[in-house]
Amino acid sequence: MTGTRTITGQCLCGAVAFEGTPPEGPSIRPCHCGQCRRWGGGGPFMAFHFADGVTVTRGEALTWFASSKEGERGFCARCGSSLFWRRPGEPRDWAVNVSALPEDHGQQISEHIWVDDQPAWYGFTDERPRRTAAQCLGEEP
Ligand SMILES: [Zn+2]
Ligand SMILES: [Zn+2]
Repeated sequence: MTGTRTITGQCLCGAVAFEGTPPEGPSIRPCHCGQCRRWGGGGPFMAFHFADGVTVTRGEALTWFASSKEGERGFCARCGSSLFWRRPGEPRDWAVNVSALPEDHGQQISEHIWVDDQPAWYGFTDERPRRTAAQCLGEEP
C-alpha cells in the first residue's frame, strides 16, 4: 500500500476487512436511491471512495449481489453488513460504506445523490449540493 496514511475498515463481525488511502477533501456521497435504502436497512448508502481503490485484507465471507446491470453490491455473508458498490468487473475502485470505517475517519460529505428518491421522513441539515437521478446519469445539467 502506497500513501502516507491508510484507513482500515471492516464489517460488523470482522470476517471482511479492507484498507485504502483516504482522499484529499470531502468524498462521502450519500445515495438516497430506493435500492441503496432497501439494501442498507433504511437510510442512504453513505458511499465513500478511497484515493487509490480498495484492498481487501480479509475476504472469505465477501459476497457480491448483482442489483442491476450497472452495479454489484458486496456484503458479508456471515453478519450481513452492507459494504461495497461496484460496476461489474471493476477490480478495485469500489464505493465503500463509510460506516464500515473507524468512527474517527475524518471524512466529510461532498454531495448528495439520487435525492429525488429520498423519502420525506428523514433529512440532512448540511448545505452540500443535491443532485437528482437525471443529473447523476448526465441526462440533466
Ligand atoms: Zn461480517
Ligand atoms: Zn443508490
